[in-house]
Amino acid sequence: MIPFVDLKREYHEIKEEIDSAIQRVLESGWFILGEELRKFEEEFAKYLGVKHVIGVNSGSDALYLAVKALGIGPGDEVITVSHTFISTVDAIVRNGAKPVFVDIDPETYTIDVNQIEKAITERTKAIIPVHIYGHPADMDPIMRIAEEYGLYVIEDASQAHGAEYKGRKVGSIGHVACFSFYPTKNLGAYGDAGAIVTNDYELAEKLRMMRNYGSLKKYYHEFIGVNSRLDEIQATILRVKLRHLDEWNDRRRRIAKIYNELLEDSEVIVPVEKEWAKHVYHLYVIRHKDRDKLQQHLLKNGIKTQIHYPVPVHLQKAYLDLGIRMKLPVTERISLEILSLPIYPWLKEKEIVKTCSLICNYDKR
Ligand SMILES: *Cc1c(COP(=O)(O)O)cnc(C)c1O
Repeated sequence: MIPFVDLKREYHEIKEEIDSAIQRVLESGWFILGEELRKFEEEFAKYLGVKHVIGVNSGSDALYLAVKALGIGPGDEVITVSHTFISTVDAIVRNGAKPVFVDIDPETYTIDVNQIEKAITERTKAIIPVHIYGHPADMDPIMRIAEEYGLYVIEDASQAHGAEYKGRKVGSIGHVACFSFYPTKNLGAYGDAGAIVTNDYELAEKLRMMRNYGSLKKYYHEFIGVNSRLDEIQATILRVKLRHLDEWNDRRRRIAKIYNELLEDSEVIVPVEKEWAKHVYHLYVIRHKDRDKLQQHLLKNGIKTQIHYPVPVHLQKAYLDLGIRMKLPVTERISLEILSLPIYPWLKEKEIVKTCSLICNYDKR
């Protein structure tokens, strides 16, 4: 059997480092807002080339708090994509603002930059591009449009730790960016965790208070905030794993290259890496016109795959009441064709070969 992800393989590679880091936190007797988080925030900021990192409870909270801290709420519109994990859009709706969807580019599956301007109205406050699957959105035109219309750009970098756009790390380009450290992400905790990053000092201070009941000084509250912190055990785990991130991303890129080569003569469409991009392959997503049957065929042969995502956000049941009745042809079409193959730094070459030969044989049947 080839699992879709296997975090036990990861743990066994770094067991000693992780065990001793957790031990250190347990011995310290300090579990919330301590040295481990402070150091992780500093190290991740340095890695990305940004000034401030604010650790929070999850990627979903990071997005929700980023939208809130920018003062976006009822009456405002935020432009984003429907081809994403639901949290990107929930963050807008939970703040009382309206999501306005733009279709995606059929090659990179990120926001189609040529369709942003016509979605802008007087109520538009921000754009949230998503670096989906680990491939960056085309940030230069997005930043140019944002500047022209006075909009904020919030990067959803939850799937793209270490990915680069024209040599710059994603997360360092917009006004603010959000990361998830869900266990299976390229940089993942062993539980829930997330972070907001920005170069804006005032925004960073506001977010530091927001995540901690609107308080900087204990028992003095400036406004009503939430409890959303990245705890010391998760922070120490992330510090260990951050040291391995580049090597693990390199291994993902090598695996993607092998997949690309072995699938060359098949009928599937393989992922694209634009010349301006460094893709970190959080997911390796192919397209096939017989997707469901191909998935069944792989499963029968012991290979687990997934679909990211089977239903675009604007067609989700949770979103039907919002009355968003729009057509997003590329988003809707690819949701029927996409299939995510196993990819993680511990995937073995023979597992890649087996998966590819099953796909090639399926096409020749
Ligand atoms: C994982 C993910 C999130 C949410 O992160 P959580 O930590 O699971 O809350 C948001 N956006 C995208 C694109 C994601 O992949």
